[in-house]
Amino acid sequence: MAQKSRELKAKGIDIISLSLGEPDFNTPDYIKEAAKQAIDDNFSKYPPVPGYADLREAISKKFKDENGINYSSDQVIVSAGGKHSLINVILSIINPGDEAIILAPYWVSYYDQIILAGGKPVVVKATIENNFKIRPEQLEAAITDKTRLVIFNSPSNPTGMIYNRKEMEQIARIIEKHEGLFIISDEIYEHIIFEGEHVSMAGFDFIYDRVITVNGVSKGYAMTGWRIGYIGAPLWIAKACDKLQGQFTSGVCSIAQRAALAAIKGTGESQRIMKEAFLRRRNLICGLLKDIKGLKVSIPQGAFYVMPDISYFLGKSDGKTKIVNSEDLALYLLDKAQVAVVGGDAFGAPDCIRISYATADELLVEAVKRIKGALERLI
Ligand code: PMP
Repeated sequence: MAQKSRELKAKGIDIISLSLGEPDFNTPDYIKEAAKQAIDDNFSKYPPVPGYADLREAISKKFKDENGINYSSDQVIVSAGGKHSLINVILSIINPGDEAIILAPYWVSYYDQIILAGGKPVVVKATIENNFKIRPEQLEAAITDKTRLVIFNSPSNPTGMIYNRKEMEQIARIIEKHEGLFIISDEIYEHIIFEGEHVSMAGFDFIYDRVITVNGVSKGYAMTGWRIGYIGAPLWIAKACDKLQGQFTSGVCSIAQRAALAAIKGTGESQRIMKEAFLRRRNLICGLLKDIKGLKVSIPQGAFYVMPDISYFLGKSDGKTKIVNSEDLALYLLDKAQVAVVGGDAFGAPDCIRISYATADELLVEAVKRIKGALERLI
């Protein structure tokens, strides 16, 4: 969808893109300065495969200070983005034929990365009625003797939902019961949270040695293009990721690592500013979307996405185009409203669309006005 809207934009069509999963802010200046300094300081040689020692130490300290988790620096591996961290972990744990549980609506890459490792994705579906959170008994029912991994993500892309401590503990207790079962906790949106607290899965000490915490600087520091992600993990998994990475990429870009070090050691001021903007935009867009007849909206508590249920519009038509699924609706909105959103099928949520509100307030107002007009023509 992003590519299609770029093509239309290049043709001079005024597309508002609400399809991208990245902050619209520039990387904060203090981080850019650190990268410039790193170039001048000749950080130009191969960096160590698992990341620079001082960066891994800073990440270890961050885990302790912000998340209350003890990961020594040799349990930390720095990779080329959270996506790279995830595939390292999945390849380390999943053997062909193993099952891995993902919770729909899920981030698209989980599904394909499991397949890439030869595993079988098993989808447990959360509904909008339960605020896009699964109930513990659903997870329990999906576990078989082939299940090796659960992938958990809070705050969530694509729903923006956050699990509270009690809900997470219930999930952790299920993991505890099943020996040999691991859980990836993808916490990449931890800094973009509007209500409640961020809870780290590895903080439940009874499953500490079965949790792999995935994080990165892309979302929280507006650094998507720098490609830095990291894990905190049991030592044997960290070592396996190190080994894989040694053949795939070697240590990741030296300059980006120096920038990430500055980011993580920073005061958090720029993150506070970005979070305020995301909160304001969440309130703005959710308020406007609620006025559209037929859309069901569950208010997200974090990240920068909202995932309205569009099932009311399925089967409807504007006289020319019949909307059969969420993909059709996304294309219809691109065509008739010049607004790019993403159909929910790719996230395992065929009754929904994902809207990213990481864009300027006035564009959000205009986009929802256009969406409303186009949806009202569907009967
Ligand atoms: N996890 C989730 C839930 C995401 O939304 C993303 C980015 N869209 C990532 C991981 C990976 O981020 P990156 O590779 O940019 O660090």
